[in-house]
Amino acid sequence: MSDTKHQTNSFIHQIVRKDVGDRENAKSVVTRFPPEPNGYLHIGHAKSMCLNFGIAREFDGVCFLRFDDTNPCKEDEHYVASIKADVEWMGFSYGNHLTHASDYFDQLYEWAIELIKNGKAYVCSLSAEDIRASRGTLKTAGQNSPYRERAIEENMDLFERMRGGEFANGSHVLRAKIDMASPNMNLRDPTLYRIRHQNHQNTGNRWCVYPMYDFTHPLSDAIEGVTHSLCTLEFEDHRPLYDWILNNVSVPCQPQQIEFSRLSLDYTVMSKRLLTSLVENQCVAGWDDPRMPTLSGMRRRGYRPESIRTFCDRVGITKKEQKIELSALEACVREDLEQIAVRRMGVIKPLKVVIENYSADDCEELTVPNHPGNPKMGNRIINFSNEIWIDSDDFMEHPSKNFFRLSPGREVRLRYAYYITCIRAIKNDSGEITELRCRYDPESRGGGTKDNRKVRGTLHWVSAKHALSAVVRLYGPLFTTPDPIGETKGDFMKFVNADSLKTMQNAKLETSIEETIIGDAFQLERIGYFCLDSKSSSENLVLNQTVALRDSKRD
Ligand code: ATP
Ligand code: MG
Repeated sequence: MSDTKHQTNSFIHQIVRKDVGDRENAKSVVTRFPPEPNGYLHIGHAKSMCLNFGIAREFDGVCFLRFDDTNPCKEDEHYVASIKADVEWMGFSYGNHLTHASDYFDQLYEWAIELIKNGKAYVCSLSAEDIRASRGTLKTAGQNSPYRERAIEENMDLFERMRGGEFANGSHVLRAKIDMASPNMNLRDPTLYRIRHQNHQNTGNRWCVYPMYDFTHPLSDAIEGVTHSLCTLEFEDHRPLYDWILNNVSVPCQPQQIEFSRLSLDYTVMSKRLLTSLVENQCVAGWDDPRMPTLSGMRRRGYRPESIRTFCDRVGITKKEQKIELSALEACVREDLEQIAVRRMGVIKPLKVVIENYSADDCEELTVPNHPGNPKMGNRIINFSNEIWIDSDDFMEHPSKNFFRLSPGREVRLRYAYYITCIRAIKNDSGEITELRCRYDPESRGGGTKDNRKVRGTLHWVSAKHALSAVVRLYGPLFTTPDPIGETKGDFMKFVNADSLKTMQNAKLETSIEETIIGDAFQLERIGYFCLDSKSSSENLVLNQTVALRDSKRD
């Protein structure tokens, strides 16, 4: 990412800075973030939010949260609520600048009539198929619709009757009269309105004609006084239409559209349509499944908005298509949590250790720091007793050359507690190790000895008598390939990673984790960052792995 520009100095910031001139005029900057309420927001939307709300903040302007709700078939009130929650969670405030494209349906209808009256729009009665067939190709011109020269009065009459509900879906559309031979396909008499006998999540049954995005968007921008309409590159070819609409309707202002590249991340998909199919096909447990690139998924996984904003800032705003490595996002999450997450101990694959020379009737409380690097974060108490859990990966009966943790006859340090030496491993009938027998050095309390004996390994552990039991969910990438769309040419479902969720049923945790607030990340020492899942309860503790301690590729 080193070659990408810092966002606050992106080419868009430079354009806005030039347009604003001096800070006296700074109030005039207006941007908007216009999600369609047909799914949950993903991290690509976060990039757009950071840009739009960020520009407004930087230039003392305003950013609207506008629901681009022109397609009642796919939109839902439930998505509207989730989008608002996500925008707020990201830390962006839209104040009273919350709008819907559908708030403007009356005005848009008036402007459609204005176009008809000026001979710039007509009602076309071709079927959708015939319209498509007569559009021509990139190499050949389209053909004029036989309805193109309809008289203005006839167009007025038909359009009003379309609105009145007289006609079936698809029987007529309103089209702009531009140029069927234009090299830009978007200018070949694009559809402005279509009939949809369908209730709308915001306007109910008031309308049965709905404006198209390309008609609605520039006009909504103009109504809101948007100065810089920032959108993703796929709208570059729509810009001439955006400008045509603004130039041919008596709008109060002339916003300018500027395009930037979409964010895409490897090992995932970033489009609501594809994410919807993952949800509908139950490849994930819902929009907020912690494996999803959605903001609600990331929140449930324990990411904080700070790290997402840092990530967007580092990715920057350019016109270059970019596929960013997942590890770049995870690095931001780790950097953020390293500072603020309290440290805890937990064992994910528990192996029982009995300390033979520690009295079974004894137990002690050890006061240990919440963050070794930050005394201001205070202390907590952990319990020690003669039976503890350690991670089974921290023991090897026949240690390999670079294994410095526990093995028979070897001494290691228990983090914050004592030195222990393994005496023997107990096995079951199948030869599996079920328990370790150890002895501890009472002189080594707190992790050091009088004779300054050196040990190579320090293990995390939990007192078995005090431990909480929990389910721990470990997450891997959602897909088995970095580019599930490119590689599969559409059939991306084939590359869904069947091992993206590993559920550890028998984890053991130190008791203080019970007091953790849902969603707040903590570090399980030597393992990674975790948080309590949104459905976790004290009877049924469930942890989500937020991110491993280190990038596994660097291990
Ligand atoms: P999707 O394919 O996910 O539905 P979209 O562009 O149709 O994407 P909208 O709800 O229309 O989704 O998007 C709202 C805003 O967020 C738009 O301005 C859009 O350009 C921007 N946006 C969407 N996806 C990305 C992305 N991956 N990177 C940057 N901006 C994005
Ligand atoms: Mg869209």
